[in-house]
Amino acid sequence: MKSSAGPDASPLPGPVRTCIGCRQRAAKRELLRVTAGSDPTTGQPVVWPDPGGAAPGRGAHLHPTSGCYDLAVRRRAFPRALRLAQGPGGQGLSTAPVSEYVAALTIDPTASIN
Ligand SMILES: [Zn+2]
Repeated sequence: MKSSAGPDASPLPGPVRTCIGCRQRAAKRELLRVTAGSDPTTGQPVVWPDPGGAAPGRGAHLHPTSGCYDLAVRRRAFPRALRLAQGPGGQGLSTAPVSEYVAALTIDPTASIN
């Protein structure tokens, strides 16, 4: 009788998702959900943060850190995870709202508070 869990059985509580930045698995509540949408003014495809996880449609998950955000951008993980078609060169998809959301969460100890 085996009692030890193998490396594939991670006993994380609750749902587990994979971060599209660092590709590590983590509890869903530790990750930020993002969804695809369109900019209300320009109509361009935009990735929106969905911290409540309630937005309809396909979503992707990542750690709400600038490190994982940068990795996801560099790997073009957003359009891939969200099944979005992109123009030549991978342009056309804005992830600025996610960047701003992550930046707001990240407290910079060197920044002065006004
Ligand atoms: Zn990550």
